[in-house]
This record gives sequence, C-alpha cells and structure tokens, in this order.
Amino acid sequence: MNTTQGKRILLVEDETHLARGLKFNLEQEGYVTALAGDGQEALDLLAKEDFDLVILDLMLPKVGGMEVAKRIRKTNIRFPILMLSAKSTDEDREQGLEAGADDYMTKPFHLPELLLRVKGILRRLEWYKEPVHDQEIFHFDDMWINFGAGRARGKDGEFFLTAKETMVMKLLVSNKGEVVAREELLERVWGYDPKTETRTVDNFIAKLRKYFEKNPQKPRRILTIREKGYMFSP
Ligand code: CA
Repeated sequence: MNTTQGKRILLVEDETHLARGLKFNLEQEGYVTALAGDGQEALDLLAKEDFDLVILDLMLPKVGGMEVAKRIRKTNIRFPILMLSAKSTDEDREQGLEAGADDYMTKPFHLPELLLRVKGILRRLEWYKEPVHDQEIFHFDDMWINFGAGRARGKDGEFFLTAKETMVMKLLVSNKGEVVAREELLERVWGYDPKTETRTVDNFIAKLRKYFEKNPQKPRRILTIREKGYMFSP
C-alpha cells in the first residue's frame, strides 16, 4: 500500500514556472497540493487548512522562508519542512536547519531526488504516528530526553526537539557505546542516498551538541568517531 497517497502538501514558491511544474509532478505522485506564492499566503493557508508537509522556498516576497519556518516551529515543532534554496553555502544550510527545516535542498535540484525526499519525510511521519511511549525517558548527566513526547531537558532547560532531532538522538542513544555510521543516520533518519548530502548530518550533530554538551567544542557525550560516524558515549 502506498501510505503517502493523498497526503497534503503545501508548496510555497514564488517562481511561477517552477511552482506549476512541481505541483503537477507532486499531483502525479498522488499528493494533494496547494500552492502559495508568498510567505504571508503560506501562513494564512497553514492557519486555515491541515497539511502533512510544507515545501518552502527561502527567498519569498512579503514574509521570507526563514521567517515562515520559525513561525511554523512556534506552533508545531514536529511539522515537516523541506526547505528549497538557490543559496548553497554551509552557512545558509545551517541557518535553514536552525530555523527549523527538517531537510534542505539546493536549487537547481533533480525532480526525482525531491520526490524521493518528500516520500521519505512522509514515511517517517507515519512512524511518528505509531503509539507513543510517554514513559520512555532517557537520563544522562543532569539532562533527559523523552523520545515519545519529543521533549528534552538540555543544558539550558526544557525544550521540544524536532522530529529529525529526536530520531537522530534515538538512533545514537539506542546504540550507545557503539559507532553509528553517518551513512546509517542518513538512511534511517532522512531516507536518502548517503552519497548525497553528508553535511546535513554534521549540521544536526552540531545543533544537538549545543543542546546537550556543556562545551559543544569539546563534546563528552555526542562524539565524532573520525571516518566512521558518531557515538553516544554512555
Ligand atoms: Ca523564490
């Protein structure tokens, strides 16, 4: 069964030609797609209707993509956001992920790759809807993570983790003391070809260290194992 069939996607893109092409192709895949041509229209639609995913361009009229992502995160920490950008520096990517994007693609991109990522994100969403184990709390140092609720206590107090952050931590913690290869993280959490975007994992690890490491430059828990991957040190 195709579980992604009928999912609702909000496409926020001001380049009319690209937007129409994307909408057509998403609908060919069986998604229900709405189109917003600027950031304000996107926020209005999000307030009125339910969506399963937003594909969000960064450079938008009225309200920019970064601001839209931040506002979405204020009300719904787990809502999946795939950010599109013509910018491609590491700094842009970091800012995008910082603003709450779950995934980030640089324009111009290959359509099949975008469709694969959309499908991957939505499949993972299904996993999230499975029964929540609210008691599943992992303690370390003076901090904790409640995987079911996606809530944590980091060095600066309590906060919500995004879906992707929760998944990365879950994978590391459930293999604590063992190396988790970067490729495995990419496959399990993002669901795409490990050869494509290894920087994505690095950026998430950097973010998680900011939450959970007293000195993110000298991590004691979330370790990089050179040329192998990452490890949560018990
Ligand atoms: Ca644009």
